[in-house]
Amino acid sequence: MTTRPPVPRNEPVLSYGPGTPERGELLSALAAHQPEELPLWIGGEPVHTGDRQPFYAPHDHRRKLGEASLASAAEIARALEATTEARASWAARSQAERSRVFLRAAELLSGPFRQRLNAATLLNQSKTIQQAEIDAACELCDFFRFNVSFADGLMESQPYSPPGVWNRLEARPLDGFVYAITPFNFTSIAANLPAAPALMGNTVLWKPSPSAMLSAHRVMELFTLAGLPPGVINLVNGDAAAITQQALTHRDFAGLHYTGSTTVFRSLWGQIAAELPRYRSYPRLVGETGGKDFILAHPSADPQALAAAIVLGGFEYQGQKCSAASRVYLPRSLWTATRERALEILREVTLGDPADLRHFMGAVIHEGAFERISGAISRGLSDPRVTLVAGGGCHREVGWFIEPTLLLVDDPSHALMTEELFGPVVSVLVYDDDRFEQVLRWVDQSDYALTGAVFARDASALAQMDRALRFAAGNYYVNDKPTGAVVGQQPFGGGRLSGTNDKAGSPHNLTRWMSLRTVKETFVPRTGWRYPHQD
Ligand code: NAD
Repeated sequence: MTTRPPVPRNEPVLSYGPGTPERGELLSALAAHQPEELPLWIGGEPVHTGDRQPFYAPHDHRRKLGEASLASAAEIARALEATTEARASWAARSQAERSRVFLRAAELLSGPFRQRLNAATLLNQSKTIQQAEIDAACELCDFFRFNVSFADGLMESQPYSPPGVWNRLEARPLDGFVYAITPFNFTSIAANLPAAPALMGNTVLWKPSPSAMLSAHRVMELFTLAGLPPGVINLVNGDAAAITQQALTHRDFAGLHYTGSTTVFRSLWGQIAAELPRYRSYPRLVGETGGKDFILAHPSADPQALAAAIVLGGFEYQGQKCSAASRVYLPRSLWTATRERALEILREVTLGDPADLRHFMGAVIHEGAFERISGAISRGLSDPRVTLVAGGGCHREVGWFIEPTLLLVDDPSHALMTEELFGPVVSVLVYDDDRFEQVLRWVDQSDYALTGAVFARDASALAQMDRALRFAAGNYYVNDKPTGAVVGQQPFGGGRLSGTNDKAGSPHNLTRWMSLRTVKETFVPRTGWRYPHQD
């Protein structure tokens, strides 16, 4: 009997064009949404508490989407106990038995559950349907299916066994629970951070982002429908520092699967280091963090392609992708043509409620993000080293709307060229064509190294950039925008302050959630004790 899982393929991205069935289904799901009371999920049970936090649509901040129960110390302790109670039976299941749950989740998500999760992502995180579809539906199906296939292949490489002996490597989960802390900006990442360790046999405490609680709740509904046993993944909303304190001071803490800002990850690393004497094992730390992602154009680049990359790579999902282009280096000879084409596109771009499917952009995630981004734009506009090229308007009356903003900056070390802003702001530095080598050094001097894109038609320039920028990005794009990594095609992650580069959506990430056991079996054990040299 074979236990090989089905060969994975990427989930097709549906179009939502007028008249398509998916468009009708999405609009019905959006119309059906009523404010919801979201529970915690502990030991497979929804748990409602007296302490609740309301949450709203970012593009319509008076529209209450529901209230979420928050965990007190008692519920956090109960969720940690649930990870312990479920551990032995989940770890004892075969890989095929665990994989079945996630393959079923993928099929449900690809079919009947698709618009439930897409609608939640559109409402809760203000994604257009194109952005919700590639994230909540397609990328999450891909994470489930490809990870199952990667997990299946991981143990194929086995040690050599000489005659009389059978040596083998056995996959085991970590000796404790995994703590998953997730960001608001991708429903798929939020679901994959608890799911990948669970697939490998671990039990998980999951703390979602307070700005994506509706999508996280839907994901728990999906896991439950797919047959995930009680206690394997336990979701707690609430005070991030308090939940983290309880999780990181637990003796069985064995791994952190984190995605979010660099500052938070650094502080978590410090906390874990300080608590090390408490733990039974050395915890695995996987963190994918911030970026200051670049587009670098050589004078031989195509300005039409550059303009499209700037708009799509910089402004889709309001620039709130860790991979979003936010610093651009353009040769003077291409600036006018690139700017004119970018302005032509931006004149047609509209932003608004993403339930109106004509829009290209929605709102930024919350008031704090709005204040941070609009503050940076207004500081830029009063700075003589910065010139406004497009956008700049920030509108807070209905939702947290920020226009796609293109700024010209004349200093490579300006904050707009070096600090992550995480919004629809792209800063452009125009360089003299004969200073290309200098520009390569500017691009490489960043503290971050997540994504980067180079554009050129001259093959020797591409080779030169490839060598000079080898460590400048974990995901490096040639003549393509720096966003839109697809599971199974472009494993994702970066170095420097951008993370531990464990490549989500690849076998490399899964190996972090395993602790191998080596077994040597001798068929006929020896009974003598003397060596020949003793004679
Ligand atoms: P964030 O850092 O504000 O929050 C991330 C998570 O950390 C949330 O669940 C939050 O509640 C939690 N958190 C906040 N303070 C904490 C504390 N003191 N202790 C424990 N947990 C705490 O990030 P965000 O706004 O949700 O997401 C945006 C950030 O994520 C950006 O920096 C972006 O670049 C990064 N990101 C990186 C990747 C990647 O693959 N490299 C992918 C997506 C997002």
